[in-house]
Amino acid sequence: MTDASVPVTQSAVESFAERYLRSLGCTIEQRGDTWDVSVPEGADTQSLPDEFTVVCGTESDSPEENTELLHPESRLLHELLDEAVRRTPAGRINLTSESTEIELPEWLRGGDVEVRNAEFAPYYDRSALVVLFRVSIETVSEYQREFLRVVALDARSGESLEGLERNFLRITSFTDDSPSGGQPSLGRENVRGLVDEGQRQVVDRVQDLIDEVHEEASRAADAEVEEFRQMQQQRIRELEERHESLSSKLDESRATIDASEQVERVEALKQRKQIKGKLEELTTELSDLRRRRDQGFPERQKEIRQRHALDVKVSPLTATQVEYERGEVEIELAEEGVIQPLTVGYGIGVGVTDTVQCTVCGREITSQNPLVSIIGEVNCDECH
Ligand SMILES: [Zn+2]
Repeated sequence: MTDASVPVTQSAVESFAERYLRSLGCTIEQRGDTWDVSVPEGADTQSLPDEFTVVCGTESDSPEENTELLHPESRLLHELLDEAVRRTPAGRINLTSESTEIELPEWLRGGDVEVRNAEFAPYYDRSALVVLFRVSIETVSEYQREFLRVVALDARSGESLEGLERNFLRITSFTDDSPSGGQPSLGRENVRGLVDEGQRQVVDRVQDLIDEVHEEASRAADAEVEEFRQMQQQRIRELEERHESLSSKLDESRATIDASEQVERVEALKQRKQIKGKLEELTTELSDLRRRRDQGFPERQKEIRQRHALDVKVSPLTATQVEYERGEVEIELAEEGVIQPLTVGYGIGVGVTDTVQCTVCGREITSQNPLVSIIGEVNCDECH
């Protein structure tokens, strides 16, 4: 598992929800993380009440009436997306350098190095397919988690475009006013192949989470099996006690028969027969229970384990073709009068596509190991 797993972020979720609600004609009054939303009469929506409150983030776990939480796993987001996708399904978005700001890499932000200028030179147009997946992990019994993952793949090379994944919910609202690029032109086969590949990647990226839920579910199943075993053990003890008391009753009845007169004797024999019958029943039940206990109650275990088995579903919600320009960005860096140009591969909406190495130690410059100086040479945090 790498950190290539880009979850849908809270800010992207809020940006999408706001644009989508506004596209429906809703008015939104924002008070920090709380939005008061009014939906106009006749708005094209089935799932929203006339007025409601949105609380952003997961802080409040018991929302008040008429309040919806908004976060990547929230019911509201899933409903809005479902509706948006139904209204404007797979589309096409064109990203150009005119309409999209240049996104500087994380490793350039902060520090003493100043970015004087950044200029993008487009070399060619590329297509990407961005697929929004709904992932649900559930067990038949109780546990359920649902969340979204975005996968963006270059249509030709299959290269994973992390920046586009991060930006996707920001650049689309699945409404007619998204920067529209007309009809998708990627072939059906190509799209299918990319969606399949995206699905594989999502499963890969959420594998740790799947394992975690799996462990939780196994623990719950183990506890249930143990509880059942103890209950049955208790039942065995009860049956053993009853068996013992019936056995001594049977012994007593033998004594009564030996000492009785003719009439009483008939009655006593009848009773003895009854006790014997009960005792036999009990013996069978007990030995059956003991046998199943010694085998570990296989049927019951199977049933419990099945109930706690995981069901992982990764289903594509939408697939959007994104046309983007690819080329190079020349960044002019400055520090204490020293100016140093840096040219790196870049895609619009995708961000920097090259890795940059520290010229001193050769380590890759990343958000964890940012560029901290250009005096002398390009210096990373590790070796500066
Ligand atoms: Zn270095």
